[in-house]
Order: sequence, then structure tokens, then C-alpha cells
Amino acid sequence: MEKNTLLQVWPIPAFDDNYIWCIHDGHHALVVDPGDANPVLEYLAQENLTLMGILITHHHADHTGGILQLLQSLGASIPVYGPVGADIPGRTQVVMEGDKVEIASPRISLEVSEVPGHTLSHIAYFANMQANIVEPMLFCGDTLFASGCGRLFEGTPTQMSQSLAKFIALPKNTLVYCTHEYTLSNIRFALAVEPNNANLMSWALTAQALREHHLPTLPTTIGQELQVNPFMRCDQKEVIDSALEVSGEKSLPTPAHVLAVIRAWKDRF
Ligand code: ZN
Ligand code: FE
Repeated sequence: MEKNTLLQVWPIPAFDDNYIWCIHDGHHALVVDPGDANPVLEYLAQENLTLMGILITHHHADHTGGILQLLQSLGASIPVYGPVGADIPGRTQVVMEGDKVEIASPRISLEVSEVPGHTLSHIAYFANMQANIVEPMLFCGDTLFASGCGRLFEGTPTQMSQSLAKFIALPKNTLVYCTHEYTLSNIRFALAVEPNNANLMSWALTAQALREHHLPTLPTTIGQELQVNPFMRCDQKEVIDSALEVSGEKSLPTPAHVLAVIRAWKDRF
């Protein structure tokens, strides 16, 4: 009976604008990218949840900084899943493209995809078609944000474009659990790229109202991002035209060329 309890996904705020997502069935929990242990420990205690696993998307400290303290406080045998690379403290399982992470409780199966760009070894976790979830779920780390995408610290625009193409191919109703509350500043930039996007204008009002009430703007969905996120819309005329104007180029033949221009523009926006 318990295995059919719907999974809950809850944002645990950390630092200024991080969300540590907690997936749980009312008893057992997973956390994604615990940059800080303290808010996670408080939430687990308050909700009476037992931590059964930790999922890591990439090596940055704001996503990994709490791992060792969680293991020390809650049990060293908790599995820690993460991408290749030497700098994820406490990692017990390296996972790669196509791997399935199968957790018994909370019961969930997550498919791993490699999404380089923000970092080279960045991965995302995707869950679909399970009795205890209503919509597919994507834990995308710092690759995709509501109305934006991650900075290219290690990867190339082409890699980021290919990574976002994987997300574009997911079901439109996929809930996207991004790890930062960057939405309002992303929307300001998106409006500079697409000043005539009516969906974006109405999303700007909704997101502003959510933040005024101190509510998260997340999760978003793939379908929503296809309508309002310029980095997911590098094949759309208004995005291409803005990129041509800003870069002074005569042509930007692929979405990756367009992404390169608007990502660099966002970096100095
Ligand atoms: Zn990061
Ligand atoms: Fe981050």
C-alpha cells in the first residue's frame, strides 16, 4: 500500500537563492544537491523523514557542501549518487548517461542524462511513468532555470545547446525542479530578447506576484519553458533576430550559434 502513496517534492531553501529538493513518501526521503546540511536536517526532523539517498547534479559547492555533514549526522551508509569527477565529497555511486537510479524507498526510478555546459560532468535525473507520480519530473541542477539557463563555466555553447535539446524532447508536462530562484532576473533578460512574447509578459506578472508572496516560482514545466525561455527558443524568429542585432553577425546558422550570442549577452546584462 505504501508504495502507491504519491511522492511529494518539496523545496528546502538554502543560502540566498538555492532550493534543495526533497522527494519523499511521508516516511522516506531523498534530497537533491544539498549545498547546506542544516536546513535539510531541520526539515527532515520537522517532517519526521528518514534520509535514504542523496542525488548530486554537479560538483559546485552550493550543491555538494552539505553532503559530509548529512552523512555524519544521519548515517554513513546513505548512498550518494553523482557524476564522474574527483570533487564530489562522499559520493558512493558514479552515474552516467542512460543509467537508472533505482531507490526502494521512497520508491522511485530515475534516469540519468549527461548535460554538459554549466560544468562538463553535469547530469540530470528524470522520472517518468510510475504509479506514485502524476507528472514526469526532471531534476536539472544548474543546466536549466525558469526562463534561463546556467552560466557556461566549463562547457561550450554547443554542449549547452545539445543538453537543452535533450530537455526540449521531454514530455511537455514534465515538472522541472531547478536549483536556484533566479526567475525574476531571468525574466528581465528574456524580455530584452523577446519584448513581444505575450506568454512571457503574462508569466512576468505571475512570477512577480509569487515572489511578492515569498513563494517559489518553481517547479516550472518543459511546456512552459518552450514558451518563455529564450535559451529553449533559439530556433524562434524573435530570438534569432535579437541575437543577430546584438552580435552584428550576418547569420547565425544553428541554435547553438544563437545560444552562444544570447548566453554571452546575459553574462553582461
Ligand atoms: Zn553550479
Ligand atoms: Fe548552483
